[in-house]
Amino acid sequence: MRVIMLSPPGAGKGTQGERISVRYGVPHISSGEIFREETARQTPLGKRLSSYLDRGDLVPDDLVLSLIKDRVVAAARQSGGYVLDGFPRTLEQAEAAAEIGRETHTSAQAVVYLDAPKDVLISRLAGRGESRADDSEAVARHRLEVYAEHTQPLVDYYAARGILVKVDAGSPVDVVSEDIFSALDRIKD
Ligand code: ADP
Repeated sequence: MRVIMLSPPGAGKGTQGERISVRYGVPHISSGEIFREETARQTPLGKRLSSYLDRGDLVPDDLVLSLIKDRVVAAARQSGGYVLDGFPRTLEQAEAAAEIGRETHTSAQAVVYLDAPKDVLISRLAGRGESRADDSEAVARHRLEVYAEHTQPLVDYYAARGILVKVDAGSPVDVVSEDIFSALDRIKD
């Protein structure tokens, strides 16, 4: 199973991405986690990444690709699948991901789009604000704006390609998982 998660911050893509990974036995590749691990090591690259993460800005596309591409290809080759959580996040990244998919015959089969009202997202982000620095209210609001400008257009991009699966992320977390699984179970591997 090869899945891309698409969702605004706070809609639960990390949680649902992990559950998809377990159910279908494919690696969960979270760009945010990869960047936070690098940041924690305080390497020069990590410091460069934290300047974007701390402000809630997007990491530049070329840097994202240099850190993510090999992992996606390796995951697809080794396990036959992946759950991409946080990548692609811009139209340029989506084009790059499509190109990688064509070259390696590992194109995504479904894009799970978690949709939730903005007030739900803000209250969820505020609720976890103590564990992640970029969830402080001002930065979380900025991340929602960045999402609306750069990532929301991917919804139409993938809908036009016929692989968008829209799920209501305002439901209880287990209901969201069931909705995702029932849609993905219908997709042939
Ligand atoms: P969330 O979905 O809650 O915003 P993530 O863990 O997916 O959190 O991402 C955290 C941060 O990492 C983003 O705000 C951004 O700075 C950076 N980031 C993650 N993935 C990408 C990406 N594909 N392109 C650019 N920046 C990214």
